[in-house]
Amino acid sequence: MPWLSDRLHLLADFADTTLLSIDISRLTLWHQPGLLLIGDAAHVISPVGGNGILMAIQDAVAAANHLAPALRTSQPINDEVLAAIQTEREPTIRAVQADQVRIEQQAAAARETGRAISPPTFLRYLSKIPAIRRRAARSNAYGPRPPRLQL
Ligand SMILES: Cc1cc2nc3c(=O)[nH]c(=O)nc-3n(C[C@H](O)[C@H](O)[C@H](O)COP(=O)(O)OP(=O)(O)OC[C@H]3O[C@@H](n4cnc5c(N)ncnc54)[C@H](O)[C@@H]3O)c2cc1C
Repeated sequence: MPWLSDRLHLLADFADTTLLSIDISRLTLWHQPGLLLIGDAAHVISPVGGNGILMAIQDAVAAANHLAPALRTSQPINDEVLAAIQTEREPTIRAVQADQVRIEQQAAAARETGRAISPPTFLRYLSKIPAIRRRAARSNAYGPRPPRLQL
């Protein structure tokens, strides 16, 4: 891959060729006058749970709900509108990231002890009930407090 040769010096170890560092973090402020960050630009979501794309799209939906009415006035968008988007979305992002950290900690503990990760017995029985399975699947598919487009 000759076009990658200018980056070769960044590889210090062979593990660098296969391992991707994954972050779970978020900015304290997602906006500045004239600028709004959403999705991973505002809050990095790790692959755990497969929720990152959902969160980025839901941020866009929430942003559209707040920005469209403000843009229709032809006035400059003020900071309160941008702040309202972060206020609406941040609790969801915090909840999803906290779940990711919890799952990663469980996985790390299982790796240390060599024990397989398995849900508690009562959860295994509960998840055999179709209505509960559907509810759990729905909750993972839509995440907490999913916004609806209101245009
Ligand atoms: C290894 C890995 C696996 C993952 N697996 C899943 C999964 O299975 N399911 C899931 O839901 N989430 C997954 N995620 C998380 C998910 O990828 C992100 O949360 C999601 O892609 C964030 O979307 P985004 O649009 O905010 O950012 P991105 O998808 O990163 O989009 C940003 C875009 O901006 C472009 N860009 C950057 N700089 C510039 C520039 N200067 N000019 C123009 N364009 C620019 C980039 O090329 C990119 O296309 C995974 C993440 C990782 C790291």
